[in-house]
Amino acid sequence: MLTKDTAICIRALDYSETSQIVTFFTRATGKIDAIAKGSKRPKSAFDGPLEIFSYGKIVFSDSTKEKLAVLTEFQQQPGFTHLAGNFFALNCCLFGAELLNNLTNEHDPHPQLFDNFLQFLQNTNEIRDTLVLLILFQLALLKEVGLQPILNACVNCKRRYGSNWPESYFSSSANGLICRDCENSFPDRIGMTQTAANALSNLKSIADADEKTLNEIEKVLVYHFTEILHRPPKMAKYILKR
Ligand SMILES: [Zn+2]
Repeated sequence: MLTKDTAICIRALDYSETSQIVTFFTRATGKIDAIAKGSKRPKSAFDGPLEIFSYGKIVFSDSTKEKLAVLTEFQQQPGFTHLAGNFFALNCCLFGAELLNNLTNEHDPHPQLFDNFLQFLQNTNEIRDTLVLLILFQLALLKEVGLQPILNACVNCKRRYGSNWPESYFSSSANGLICRDCENSFPDRIGMTQTAANALSNLKSIADADEKTLNEIEKVLVYHFTEILHRPPKMAKYILKR
């Protein structure tokens, strides 16, 4: 059976002299692994070798959870050329793809998350804007996979977050904000500045946050993803070391 879908390549590995194994995040099917036979031949049926972030309409067959799908068509659309030469934006997109690959399951569709990821790839630009998009994408990803953090109240005592909180913490094990009265019960909590806690508790204000605040929030999220995955995401160091 042939399936048509819209897809973004989030991983491409050489399989043989002429073929590749690629992981697609598709809009309607979710994540799939597919073999692209002959994709590295000069005249391939797929508009040339597949690369990470190749994007377009695909047709594939024989896809089950147990075996590789076979890619039969790929009409590539103009790629995300603005990423060439913009190392920070490219690294953020690679980081997003890594998280997406690690946190979603095969054949588990998330059309909303697909649209979020596409917008993220299309709109990354200056450092500050890119950080805003990365943070919003990471929060959308957590929500879609059932790990939405609690950011408007203390997870433990349910006290609503307010900018009058004298101290704010984030705990990965609690999956959200922790107030000063509860922080002792959460050894893994990390402190946050009031500015960062304000921005995180009111996502509409993230777009106006300054770069320093965005970096602080991103550090919190990297810590959180490290706990969730039980190891640091590979790309995280390129996002934080600037
Ligand atoms: Zn509390």
